[in-house]
Amino acid sequence: MDKSELKSLACQLLDRDQVKIIASGEKLLRMPELSYKENRTAGFAVEHLEGLGLKVKKGLAITGFRADAATGRPGPTLGILGELDGLIVPNHAFADPATHAAHACGHHAAFNAMLHAAAYLTAPEVLQHLSGTLAFVGTPSEECQDQPYIASLVRQGKLEFFGGKSQMIAEGVFDDIDLAMMLHAGSANFTPSGFNGFVMKRLIFKGRSAHAGACPERGINAISMMRCAMAMIDAQRDTFRDEDHVRIHGYIPEGGEAVNVVPDNTVFTLQVRAGSPEAIEDASAKVDRCVRAAAIAFGGESEVQNIFGFMPLVPYSDFDALHEENVRLVAPDAPFTRGIYRPSSTDMGDVSMIRPSLHAYFRGFEGSAHTDTFLAADKKAAYVDSVKYLVLNTIDLLYGDAEKGLRIASLPTPMSKQEYIKAMHSFSSVKKFSNQ
Ligand SMILES: [Zn+2]
Ligand SMILES: [Zn+2]
Repeated sequence: MDKSELKSLACQLLDRDQVKIIASGEKLLRMPELSYKENRTAGFAVEHLEGLGLKVKKGLAITGFRADAATGRPGPTLGILGELDGLIVPNHAFADPATHAAHACGHHAAFNAMLHAAAYLTAPEVLQHLSGTLAFVGTPSEECQDQPYIASLVRQGKLEFFGGKSQMIAEGVFDDIDLAMMLHAGSANFTPSGFNGFVMKRLIFKGRSAHAGACPERGINAISMMRCAMAMIDAQRDTFRDEDHVRIHGYIPEGGEAVNVVPDNTVFTLQVRAGSPEAIEDASAKVDRCVRAAAIAFGGESEVQNIFGFMPLVPYSDFDALHEENVRLVAPDAPFTRGIYRPSSTDMGDVSMIRPSLHAYFRGFEGSAHTDTFLAADKKAAYVDSVKYLVLNTIDLLYGDAEKGLRIASLPTPMSKQEYIKAMHSFSSVKKFSNQ
């Protein structure tokens, strides 16, 4: 069977199975779980993959897994990724009443696509046309919620990084994966031209308490320190270049405890996002200087705790072009766009730093992601077409001698795994400032 026959047969068979595919996607919608607690979702997937005769390696990055299907012929190892987690959106129609977790980012639909792509691609009559190895990878914790729980896992030494894909890279899951792809739910078919990366920053201001009415002159007001630092951070904004897509945003988890006491401790948590590791470093250093300046100005102390989050996403245009061709084949009437920049972040960025990767959006959802309005409106597009994209991309990459897969796998990446791990650790630091 030639490649185009194999592709059109795939589309026919997946259309035939659409009721089953949609039902399993809707089942996953009803079991949303938070980062590193995705036990039911992982269990559902493992049962499905083992049912296909695959051996599943479990407990990778706590709740993640990987199942390989070897063709028996030499070629690249293609990682097909699916994200396991939901996020906290209590008023979502399918939120878990106990945990408030909901699939308000649509990870269940892309994850379901990965499971059904596995079912189709590992059938012997399909696998016999391919070369190399297929690696189906379930990745935990893309949303990184809830943070205190993840921080406790880091403190216990069970995790090195917050993001599931970062943790899997550190554990060696990607060592023998040559190229990787995943899909993300959305309202349109497109491939992004990039995503911002980010560093998480906890800014701590330490002053001195005093009676706020009787003798405020004896105190050092930690709120004053914090708001001056905030004003200086805001004043930095015109030093950021448009092309670096810098975004700085945060909230105040600790802002004093009593109205009649000069507060001696405040905390401002923020995220610094930008489009390259260099731009993140530059903006982050400017924030640190503002925090230091506040300590000097008020005669108090301040501290910055930096935890690196995700790397920016690097696009691979040959990979995007291959995907675009298949989307146009499956959904010729729906618009397809390339080159949309996403100022948000994904840990697929981390994978793209070390391996040629595809992170593409598929249509079928309506509403705004991360809110209660985000739901699959066109179920065929959301649940069935997404499987077709993964299947057709895989056929293109691995058909015959896997010539296209080998070519994309050989594209240069910004970093090696070792350089990536080193960069992640060098971004994570604690800096303490006093008025000296
Ligand atoms: Zn999300
Ligand atoms: Zn998402």
